[in-house]
Amino acid sequence: MTSVAAQGRSRVIDAGPYEVRISAGLSAEFAPIIAAVARAHCYAVISDDNVAPLHAGPLMAELAKHGRTSLHVMPSGEAHKTRDTWARLTDELLAAGCGRDTTIVALGGGVVGDLAGFVAATFMRGVPFVQCPTSLLAMIDASVGGKTGVDTPAGKNLVGAFHTPAVVLADVDLLATLPIEHRRAGLAEAIKHGVIADSAHFAELNEWLPALLAGDATATLDAVARSVEIKSSVVKTDEREHGLRKILNFGHTIGHAIEHASGYALLHGECVAIGMVYEARLAERLGIAEEGTAEQVEGVLTRAQLPVVRPQSLEPEQIVAATRLDKKARSGTAEYALPLRIGKMANADSGYSIAVADAAVLEVLA
Ligand code: NAD
Repeated sequence: MTSVAAQGRSRVIDAGPYEVRISAGLSAEFAPIIAAVARAHCYAVISDDNVAPLHAGPLMAELAKHGRTSLHVMPSGEAHKTRDTWARLTDELLAAGCGRDTTIVALGGGVVGDLAGFVAATFMRGVPFVQCPTSLLAMIDASVGGKTGVDTPAGKNLVGAFHTPAVVLADVDLLATLPIEHRRAGLAEAIKHGVIADSAHFAELNEWLPALLAGDATATLDAVARSVEIKSSVVKTDEREHGLRKILNFGHTIGHAIEHASGYALLHGECVAIGMVYEARLAERLGIAEEGTAEQVEGVLTRAQLPVVRPQSLEPEQIVAATRLDKKARSGTAEYALPLRIGKMANADSGYSIAVADAAVLEVLA
């Protein structure tokens, strides 16, 4: 659904070494842009079995005008963001005759983006790749910042690499086919960007929620663009997550633990929503966040129709045990990025990372 106001509107955001281009209808231009920014002999498009039948056809036809093409389709869902899928895809690329002169194109949600990026980071010791995100979460967050990787049985994103895309191309019209639960999940990361860096955007998102949930292209384009601005300005300052980039992990220590402990039964964005509420409460209980911060976070997430309570099937102890497997854990103690108030994160002086004793986390989860 392209609204009249969204037609012809486009945004180009400087993400440092690459651009993020966002507009309604941009997919008609994907192929010439890819060929201009990441020219190659072979264009290998990686997608999943939901997105490929809906959106790969026109891209493959247009890319064929610029070189050899191949389409590699993985099963959809977090359960397939694994080393097995990585091995299958790299074998397929070799069987298709792709060499060093290959550009990988990720066409899909965050799972496809993370996996295709990891394939690109490792295939022939690294080939260029382009992100064409098709889910709201991938447009708002996952396609930007250069983190790629896979999950392992021990936890999320534990094997991966930093590999920046040559360009990110987001066509908000592609979201017309995205199921509503995934649209809601994407909103969780947008709300996170408001909490960590921009109280005005947090308020704006609250106001725009009915339009965003209804799939209005203008509101979606504005929300995606502001989120990308926030995330890319953070990543430009601290690409390798030594300090500032840690603020992007708000909600993710508990969120990833719930995601992993539930066997990926909940969506990533849903787990981040639940994680943000508990982590905001933790910040208040530790005397770090202003009183009322957690209530504000919970209010907006509830209006976005996202879950805000841990699944009752998961005991607090299970969640806390899973936080110790997180990449952010140091010497077995989980670390958190916690808010001071909406729009500002705590502990800038010590790298935005706060080690929290398990007992305090158990208390808020109980
Ligand atoms: P996803 O890739 O599983 O996509 C969600 C679902 O929507 C899938 O079933 C997919 O097939 C479907 N889909 C996507 N686009 C569609 C469309 N246009 N029409 C119809 N169906 C469509 O999940 P996601 O929510 O996009 O991303 C979550 C992943 O992103 C997680 O693995 C998370 O760890 C990762 N992530 C990475 C970063 C990063 O910086 N690299 C940041 C945030 C999240």
